[in-house]
Amino acid sequence: MKKLMYLLALASALCIHVSAQSSQEDSPENLRKYVPILPSVKAQMWKIDPKIGYAVHNVGGGVYVISDNGWQSAFLVTDEGVIVFDAPASFGKSIPSEIAKVTDKPIKMLVYSHAHKDHIGGSAAFKNIKDLKIVSLDTVSDFLKEMNDPNRLLPNETFKTTKTLTLGGHTVELTRHEYHSNEGDLFIYVPKAKFLMAVDCVTPGYAPFSGFDITTNFHQYLKVFDELLAYKFDTFVGGHLTSIGTREDVEISKEFTLDVYNTVKRVHNNMDQTAVWSGTAKVVGPDNEFLIFKVLLDKVVDDSVKELQPRWINRLAGVDVWLPSHVRTALIYVRWDDKE
Ligand SMILES: [Zn+2]
Repeated sequence: MKKLMYLLALASALCIHVSAQSSQEDSPENLRKYVPILPSVKAQMWKIDPKIGYAVHNVGGGVYVISDNGWQSAFLVTDEGVIVFDAPASFGKSIPSEIAKVTDKPIKMLVYSHAHKDHIGGSAAFKNIKDLKIVSLDTVSDFLKEMNDPNRLLPNETFKTTKTLTLGGHTVELTRHEYHSNEGDLFIYVPKAKFLMAVDCVTPGYAPFSGFDITTNFHQYLKVFDELLAYKFDTFVGGHLTSIGTREDVEISKEFTLDVYNTVKRVHNNMDQTAVWSGTAKVVGPDNEFLIFKVLLDKVVDDSVKELQPRWINRLAGVDVWLPSHVRTALIYVRWDDKE
């Protein structure tokens, strides 16, 4: 048993070593040390005809989800027309023709979850749709005006915090949040379908993408799970990867995020920082304060990853890929924003 524990510790240390290295260390031999995708996650991948490149699933209540196993968007079909939620750069250009296979109703509205081009950079395909309302947060619209990107059509209907869309007896509730991108993010809720879409916070089956989904606001990211769970929903769309999610996926992402945060906070606050500082200063001299500080921060990251990885490696996919980045995001918050 002891030997097994030692081997497990060694294996996880190797993984940490690999993930902490720079890209030139990404040799095939090192890449093979990462754990394969969990079978439970692999089983959730959509069957996609490679000639088409994406698939459309009816999730009920008039809502359809489109995915290429990398990005996801969705649309709501009503008697009076269709509302589209996001037009990813990867398959956005195909959305109008896919909708035409499901209904002969016209596309009336396109909603932007946030400003990032991977989620709305296919919107140019909607350019010639007559009287199309393009709906976004005012801050997203301001940003897009500044960018002047031909791949992201400018919104023509904006709002500050909340907006309810109504069409053909259906409602869609849009609410501003701040968990991911600098210009703000939307919760998109279709009550009749118990459908909730919030892009770039939860990737069902997986640990979040790098640095808690490249959040620009970890303080708000910590709150997003409870804000999602306050809704009544059966179907969750997070915008990425292989699966449509459920409440359970939001709950496990919350548990993971809080475990990372609490572990980093404890490791950081309990570390004898004076000893690490003076020990490093003896080696490199006291003047190189950036280097001494880097050693201190790296030690918090390494100790936190060593503790967290064995707890999560078999529960979520991609833990050995992104855990050091999550720990660094939490560390910035713990050291610079959080109370003691
Ligand atoms: Zn994004």
